[in-house]
Amino acid sequence: MALSLFDRLRFTFGKRKARTRVSDDMTDKTFDEAELRERLSPEQFAVTQQAATERAFSGEYWDVWEDGTYHCIVCDEELFSSETKFDAHCGWPSFDRALSDDKVGEKRDLSHGMVRVESVCGKCGAHLGHVFPDGPTDTGLRYCMNSASLRLAPKEESGESSAES
Ligand SMILES: [Zn+2]
Repeated sequence: MALSLFDRLRFTFGKRKARTRVSDDMTDKTFDEAELRERLSPEQFAVTQQAATERAFSGEYWDVWEDGTYHCIVCDEELFSSETKFDAHCGWPSFDRALSDDKVGEKRDLSHGMVRVESVCGKCGAHLGHVFPDGPTDTGLRYCMNSASLRLAPKEESGESSAES
């Protein structure tokens, strides 16, 4: 099951049509711009709607290690578990996998003279960050996300029965 990092990315690109493909006509258009501008901070709007990137070490979650689930700031979909978060020393919250394959979509990003894989919310299409093939765990992936795209629901809030030890 362990694909090399390169194979994994090539697979991801090559199988584009067979996988979760996020395009404008697929995304849930339940949020209009005026509503989002009012509800989100200017930075959250710029990151999720205009694919901006927050400054490294400036976001809320790069150095947060609380248990919980990270939700999309726009549509509240659950995207990442704190269990898959790791310290990538890059100043952005980093995960080695999404909660499931359909939670986080991927788009090819050719901006800034680079070929990168953009990560977007699989439900609403909000920009989340980028995924790189240099993760330190068995997935080989590093989801380098913007804190501005995420909201951490602490375990008490998201879990049904949080068994205290
Ligand atoms: Zn979303």
